[in-house]
Amino acid sequence: MSKFKYLEDVVTLEYDQEKCVGCTMCTIVCPHEVFRMEAKKAFLLARNLCMECGACMRNCPAGAITVEAGEGCVRGIINELLGIEGPCC
Ligand code: SF4
Ligand code: SF4
Repeated sequence: MSKFKYLEDVVTLEYDQEKCVGCTMCTIVCPHEVFRMEAKKAFLLARNLCMECGACMRNCPAGAITVEAGEGCVRGIINELLGIEGPCC
């Protein structure tokens, strides 16, 4: 799913690193490798690749992540299957 890309700086993903307890779940569940671990904390590696699926927020035990999960991921998948490139939303 490497072609997926959101419009620049419109994603609703917010992350509070102060709350992170270093469980690594966000790096496991994110399909686009938006988060990476460094020094036992997650950090945002590629925020604009977020498809707002909500998996990281739902799996973060510390409440460190918020995102308005919507249809972005579904639309992105359909666009890729149809061969449509570029921003999906
Ligand atoms: S899921 Fe939450 S607590 Fe766990 S590493 Fe990611 S941001 Fe930190
Ligand atoms: S909402 Fe989905 S795509 Fe965005 S950072 Fe979280 S897991 Fe990754």
